Amino acid sequence: MDWAGTAVDYGCFAPLHAFIRMFEEYHINVTLEETRRPMGLPKIDHIREILKTQRVSEQFSAHYRRAWTETDVREMNAKFETYLFATLKDFASPIPRVVETLDRLRAEGIKIGSTTGYTAAMMEIVRKGAAEQGYNVDNLVTPNDVPAGRPAPYMIYKNMLDLKIDSPRKVVKVGDTLADIREGVHAGVWSIGIVEGSNEMGLTEAEFAACDPTTLARLKSRVKADMYAAGADYVLNNIGELPQCIDDINRRLNMQPDVRGRYLLLTPGPLTTSHAVKESMLQDWCTWDEDYNQGVVSVIREKLVRLATGKTDMYTSILLQGSGTYCVEATLGCAVPRDGKLLIAANGAYGKRMVEIADRLGINRTVLTFQETEQVAPEKLEEALAADPSITHVSFVHCETTTGILNPLDTLCPIVKRFEKTLIVDAMSSFGGIPIDTAGLGIDFLVSSANKCIQGVPGFGFVIARTETLKTCQGQARSLSLDLFDQWETMEKGGGKWRFTSPTHVVRAFAQALCELEAEGGIAARHERYKQNQRILSEGMRSLGFRPLLPDPAQSPIITSFLYPDKNFSFKTFYNRLKALGFVIYPGKISQADTFRIGNIGDVRPEDFRDLLDAVRAISE
Ligand SMILES: *Cc1c(COP(=O)(O)O)cnc(C)c1O
Repeated sequence: MDWAGTAVDYGCFAPLHAFIRMFEEYHINVTLEETRRPMGLPKIDHIREILKTQRVSEQFSAHYRRAWTETDVREMNAKFETYLFATLKDFASPIPRVVETLDRLRAEGIKIGSTTGYTAAMMEIVRKGAAEQGYNVDNLVTPNDVPAGRPAPYMIYKNMLDLKIDSPRKVVKVGDTLADIREGVHAGVWSIGIVEGSNEMGLTEAEFAACDPTTLARLKSRVKADMYAAGADYVLNNIGELPQCIDDINRRLNMQPDVRGRYLLLTPGPLTTSHAVKESMLQDWCTWDEDYNQGVVSVIREKLVRLATGKTDMYTSILLQGSGTYCVEATLGCAVPRDGKLLIAANGAYGKRMVEIADRLGINRTVLTFQETEQVAPEKLEEALAADPSITHVSFVHCETTTGILNPLDTLCPIVKRFEKTLIVDAMSSFGGIPIDTAGLGIDFLVSSANKCIQGVPGFGFVIARTETLKTCQGQARSLSLDLFDQWETMEKGGGKWRFTSPTHVVRAFAQALCELEAEGGIAARHERYKQNQRILSEGMRSLGFRPLLPDPAQSPIITSFLYPDKNFSFKTFYNRLKALGFVIYPGKISQADTFRIGNIGDVRPEDFRDLLDAVRAISE
C-alpha cells in the first residue's frame, strides 16, 4: 500500500500545498498540474523534477539571473519540509473504505506492507495520525531505508524481506500515482492503480461528490488510460474493489502456465501459435462496434485479398464461422447452381470429403480418383473435361493434408480455365505457407482457414472469391448459415459485420497472426521457413531409420508422412514418449500403409525440429 492519496489524504493534498507555498517563496509560480505530475517520488526528487520543467526553470533564471543548482534543491527541500511538517498531521485521515477493506484482507491472511514518497520523519507523523483513526499496516518502508525511492523497486523488495514473502507474483502494489504504478512494474509484482481519491484525479472528496457525471467520466477514463499506459495490471475505481481483484489474480495464478504451451503442436492445425497471438485474445469486442468491424474484420478481409492476389480490385473475401470444412461446404453449396455439375479431382481424405459434401447437398457431381500417394494428373483432368461438356465447376485440394502431397496448381488451373469452368481450390493447409497466384491462375474460389499457415487459432475459415463469379451465386445456397453470398453481402454492406455471432477473440488473434506474417517477410519468407523445417525433419528422420511416404517431388513443405519403421512399431508408445518430451505429432490417415505425420507449419523453427530429432533419437535407443 502506498500512503498519501491511496490510504490517507484523499486527493493527495498535503504535499501539494507545501510545494506551492515553498515555490512561492522563491517567486516561482507552479501550476497544480506541474506539481502533481511527479507525485509519488521521494520529495527531493519531486522538487528536482518540477525544476527541470522549462517553464519553472525559466522563472527561476529570470528571478535569480542564474540556473538552479543542487544546493538550491536541498535548500528548497528543507523549506518544503518545514511547510509540510506544519500541516502533515491534518492530512493523515484514512480514505473511505480503506480501513474496512484492509481489515478484511488481513483477516484472510494477507499482510499489509507499505511504501511511500515521504521520508521516515514525515511518516512518523502520518503513521501515528492514521493509527489514531484506525488505519494500521504490518510493515513500513521509506526511501530512507533503501538505496533509492520510486520508481525503483527496492521499497517493495524490503517489504518482501521484512514480511517473508517468497515471490513477487504473490504481491500486489496498490497506489494512486504513475510513480506507484512504475514501482510495481519494476518490482515485477501485480501493479494496481486506484482512481478515486488519487493524485491523478486531483479532486477533494467534496469536489468529487459535486462533479457532474460527464466531466467525472472523462476524468476517470483519462486517469485509467494513463495508469494502464504506465504498466498497471489493473486499475480500480476505489479500494473497495481490491478483494475482488485479488480473487481474480489468484485465479490467474492457479491457471496452467501459458508459455508456448507445455508442448509444441507439430500438427496441421490447430498448430503452435505465437505468444502474442494468444495474448491478443485477452480483450472482449462488440460485434457491431466499428472498432471491431472496421478496425479488425475489414482490415483482415482486405489483407487476405492482397495476400492472395497482390491487389484488391477483382477479388473479395468472406470470413465464415466454423472450421475449414464449413467453408468448403459453403463454397460448394453456393457456387454450384442446381443445373450445374461439379468435377472433383480427389487424391486424399479432403478430396473425398468434397464428394461427401456434394452428395449430402444433392449437387450433381463426378469424381476423378487418384491414389493417395499420387498427384492429380493434368492429362486425366483434361480428358475428363473433354469427355463431359456438362461439367460447369471443378474442385480439388492444393496440399492434401492426408499425406502432405502437393497437387500442381500451375498445370491444373490453366486446364480448367481453358475449358472455361469455375474453379474451386481447397488451399486450406497451404494458403499463407506456399505462394499462390490466385488471380493469375484464375481461381474463382480459394478456401482456407484461420488455424493453418496464417498461424491463427481455430474458429473460422475464409474464402477468397472472384467478385464477378460470387455475384452470380445469389440465392443458390442450399443452407442458411452456410450461405456464402449472404455472408459476403452482409459484410460488404455492414462494413465488416458478420451475419451471426462472430468468433471475436479468434478474429482478433487472426489479425495479430497476419501482422506476424507481414513481419516475417510475407508468404515467400514463411514458405522458406517451412521448407527448411521440412528438409531438416525429413533428412533427420531418414538418418534415424524412418522413410517418408512420398517421393520428394510430390512432398509439400506443410506436413510429412512417415512409414512405420517395422512391424513392432507402436505409434501410441512413440506418440506418448514424444509428448512427454514436449512434442505432439499426428497419426496417419491413409488406408494403404501404416504411417504417422509430423507437421512443419506453425510458429515452429528449424531449431525446434533439431530438438524434435534429438527427442526421437532419445526414445528410439
Ligand atoms: C484442415 C483441412 C481442411 C478442413 O478441416 P477442418 O477440420 O474442417 O478445419 C480441409 N482441407 C484440407 C486440405 C485441410 O488440411
